[in-house]
Order: sequence, then structure tokens, then C-alpha cells
Amino acid sequence: MKDKKVILTGDRPTGKLHLGHYVGSLENRVKLQDDYKQFVMIADAQALTDNADNPRKVRENILEVALDYLAVGIDPEISTIFIQSLVPELAELNMYYLNLVTVNRLRRNPTIKNELKQKAFGESIPAGFLTYPVSQAADITAFKANLVPVGEDQLPLLEQTVEIVRRFNRIYEAVLVEPQALVSKAARLVGTDGKNKMSKSLGNAISLADSHKVIKEKVMGMFTDPNHIKVEDPGQVEGNPVFEYLDLFDSDKEEVEKLKTYYRKGGLGDVKVKKRLNQVLQDFLKPIRERREEYAKDPEEVMNILKKGTEKARQKAVQTVDEVRKAMQIDYY
Ligand code: ATP
Ligand code: MG
Repeated sequence: MKDKKVILTGDRPTGKLHLGHYVGSLENRVKLQDDYKQFVMIADAQALTDNADNPRKVRENILEVALDYLAVGIDPEISTIFIQSLVPELAELNMYYLNLVTVNRLRRNPTIKNELKQKAFGESIPAGFLTYPVSQAADITAFKANLVPVGEDQLPLLEQTVEIVRRFNRIYEAVLVEPQALVSKAARLVGTDGKNKMSKSLGNAISLADSHKVIKEKVMGMFTDPNHIKVEDPGQVEGNPVFEYLDLFDSDKEEVEKLKTYYRKGGLGDVKVKKRLNQVLQDFLKPIRERREEYAKDPEEVMNILKKGTEKARQKAVQTVDEVRKAMQIDYY
């Protein structure tokens, strides 16, 4: 039998996962887990690069993210879910790879540039934050991942990984595997503010765990077309997050097209469209939330799943580090 190809993905434990994660990555992971060997990482070390002074937040969200995974159907029997910081080999690889990139290259990374702006570090950029793309290269290569299902914001980071892999393989030995990105149908889901990417840190997210009431409040408060003031005004569908969400989550495509035509022409009020979206999202999120609540009753069991997954992940990372050390001629005895 041919070996299955490997997937590595992950999320930062900085908050509960949201609709952006679902369409950007989780949906693909659930679909692909049968055909690939899948590692799913809870990136606590990476989360600490911009949350060093908030260890509690990172710690608490390990369980939350794990619950989100299980709720959407990532199956711990076939996917390996693990905690990044408990695989110290990843930190070791990171240290070696840091010598293969320049500070200028890191500063020029478009994702980092954008996040630096958002996070307003000013002159006080944590070195670990600037270099997290290198640590991501360590995560991906430790498992010899072929495929990385990600949102669009991750593409420049994956490019950085490919550069490191090529450089390493050229200087030392061809030990590392070049990964490919798998960008989903919604590579950048906009937030409820209609401006930024939906993000845990920006307060514009609908979480998978949100209650019926909270979902409704968030949907009814969503940004729409700011020029669609009176019901009779013609409205714009493009760049209107309410329609973007309907496109992704409403299975009745014909009805959505009809609503769009009506909205463009004028005469269809925002409240009506939002009410429909609310219903669609309620139907979509209810079974996820219920499964989540089921798992949440036994947090110890969930931590056990993470412990087992982490042990398994570590075995693979140890193998890679052995090969890396040998290639780098630092396998002294
Ligand atoms: P933070 O604000 O802490 O950075 P985040 O919401 O950006 O959190 P991450 O943990 O950084 O979430 O991202 C995990 C994965 O989910 C990445 O592959 C990322 O591309 C994807 N992702 C995150 N937000 C979106 C989104 N709005 N649309 C599509 N994919 C997304
Ligand atoms: Mg992010």
C-alpha cells in the first residue's frame, strides 16, 4: 500500500473558532481526514508570540479549540490532534531554521506586515512574533506535510516555509518535504463588520459555540451596504457580508440569487435578508453547538485525546529531527 500523504494544519488557542475557520479550513480537514494522514495542531507557542503577558488566555483556549474540532467532526481516531509546545522538537527545528532566513525577509512578509499594523506593537515588536513564520516552517516540516489547508492570509507564510525547505535541502541534504497550500472556497471570510477578515482578535466573529441569542444579535447588527438606507433604494450585493454568508451557508442557491436581484433593484430591506441569514446560520450551527456541549461535559476525556495525539505527533517529530541533525552534521554520537 502506498503511504498516505500528510496534512498539517492548526489554529492558535486565542479564542473560540468561528465561521471563518469553518469555511477557511475546518470543512476541508473533515473532508480530507479519511484520505490523508492528518495532524491538527493547537498552536499555543505561536499564540504566545503576541500574548506573552496573557498565558491564561492561551491555556484556557486549548480546551475551547479542541472542543470546536470535535464538534465539527475532526475525528481523533483518524486525525492526530496535538499541542504544539509539548512537542519540543518543533522548537529545536525552529532554532536551526532561523539561520536560514534574513531579518529583512521576515519584515517584508505581507501577512506579518499586516498583522503588525493591526496589533499596533509600535517599536516593541516581539522577536518571536516577527519570526513566527519560521516556527511555522518547523511545524510543517516536522511532519513532512505535503498539504496545508489554510485561509488566504497564510499563503505568504507557506511561501516562507517553501523557501526554508529549499535552502535547507540545498545546503545540507534533501531531508525536508516541500508543502503545498490548499486554499478553500472561502479563503478569507469577512467579519460581521464588513471590513476585516473574520478574526478571533477583532471582535467581528460569529463563533461556532455562540448561543441562539448571540448569533441573532450578531446577524441583526451586521454591516451591510451603507448606501442602502431606505428599503426602496437599490442595494449592493458585492462586498455585502450578509450576502457573502448567504452564498456560503444557504443551500437554496436559487432563492439566494432571487434575493440578490431583488436587493439590487431596490425594495428588499436589510432586516428581511438578515432574518433569513439568521435562520440559515441557526440551522447550521445548532448541531455543532450541541455536539460541542456534549464533549464539554467531559473535559478530562478531551485532554486525554490531546495527550494521546501529542505523544503520537512527538514520535514523528523526533524522527524528523534525527534526520535533520544528521544532515546538518550535528549528530555527534
Ligand atoms: P487570531 O486573531 O488570534 O490570529 P484567527 O481568527 O486569525 O486568530 P488563526 O488561528 O490565526 O485564527 O487561523 C487559523 C486558520 O484559520 C488559518 O488557516 C487561517 O487562514 C484560517 N482563518 C482564520 N480566519 C479566517 C477567515 N476569516 N477566513 C478564512 N480562513 C480563516
Ligand atoms: Mg490569525
